[in-house]
Amino acid sequence: MRKALLSSILFLACCLAMSSRERKAVIIIVDGIPRDVVERLHVPVIFDIASHGAFGASHVGGEVGMYNQTPTISAVGYNSMLTGVWVNKHNVYGNSNLSPNYNYWSLFRIAKEQGKPLRTGIFSSWTDNRTVLLGEGKPETGDLKIDYVRDGYDLDKVNYPDKEKDLNVFDYDERVSREAEKCIREDAPDLSWVYLWYTDDASHMYGNGSYFDEYILKAGEQIDRVWQAVQYRQKRFGEDWMVIVTTDHGRTVNGRGHGGQSPRERATWIATNQKVNRRFKDGDASMVDINPTVCEFLGMEVPDQVAWERDGIPFIGKTEISDLEVSTYDREVILTWRAWKKSAPVSVYACPANDFKTTGRENWIHLGDLKAGDREFRYDLDKIGQSDQYKFVVVGGHESLSRWLMM
Ligand SMILES: [Zn+2]
Repeated sequence: MRKALLSSILFLACCLAMSSRERKAVIIIVDGIPRDVVERLHVPVIFDIASHGAFGASHVGGEVGMYNQTPTISAVGYNSMLTGVWVNKHNVYGNSNLSPNYNYWSLFRIAKEQGKPLRTGIFSSWTDNRTVLLGEGKPETGDLKIDYVRDGYDLDKVNYPDKEKDLNVFDYDERVSREAEKCIREDAPDLSWVYLWYTDDASHMYGNGSYFDEYILKAGEQIDRVWQAVQYRQKRFGEDWMVIVTTDHGRTVNGRGHGGQSPRERATWIATNQKVNRRFKDGDASMVDINPTVCEFLGMEVPDQVAWERDGIPFIGKTEISDLEVSTYDREVILTWRAWKKSAPVSVYACPANDFKTTGRENWIHLGDLKAGDREFRYDLDKIGQSDQYKFVVVGGHESLSRWLMM
């Protein structure tokens, strides 16, 4: 009896210790590796990370032929990861002439707008990722500050002169991965982004084949440095880390190109060491789910105004609702969604404009409250107002679903 009591006290103490472990997250983007190639090579570190959590199919590109169709291009993909929205909102359509709409907050900004701001780190072979996409130091990003910065190697032609086959880019990645390893071991930022570039160059040059494979496996060794540092922190300091490894786009059939909406260009993958939900296991996650997933894992507060614009939902925790669709019949709008938890209360809001794009604020009109299991909501558009663009959001306790209707 006493033994049983003692062991249940120990069990409770253990649970408490587990739940109070400090949480941290690192996202690693390795550029332009289609899902079939990662699976064929069975890149050891990626599947080692996934052995603690999951490896799953995901996609980029928004929805084909819809208002949110998104080019399968690098910076476009990174910005979808950072903001949790597709290109129709974040406005980064390519790799140059970048003009992000900073009203859609990045994960890094969300991390800094907390009551207790999180410490952030960027480890990147492409300096624009910090200066332009994250918009460090700009008034439009609330003068965003990043605590640990290891980048700029692409601009340093003295230490990193151009090489044949662009191998100077591989050198940046080597440096980036070693700097990330060191910083995570020593300083352990709460939120980090590691970006590795060379795999994309390798495939642009040679397409599918042995050269691409060789450099994917080498990128695996770079990722492994970060993974070793994370495991060191977990063992030494008892921290609870979320590691997410993903890619920014797939590639054309021969591997040389990307940017379009073909199945292989849209087909990406996500590996994580944390337990995932059923929707992830079904292969329905996408690039825009990473932002809300990391917010949820780190327990970050996200203002409704920012959260309700997001196109993604968490792939950890129990899903309540997903897959919001909008259609019309005469002047009636019909919203439908998938209900995972039928009893969950949901609320529906709309607006007959997109003021958020220019002002960062939206005047949402509350249309009604119902249960997730109702799966459908109808409303007279004329009561919302005349417009050529309507926005809708269905808000649950665990996620919010955003949808536009263009008339
Ligand atoms: Zn790319």
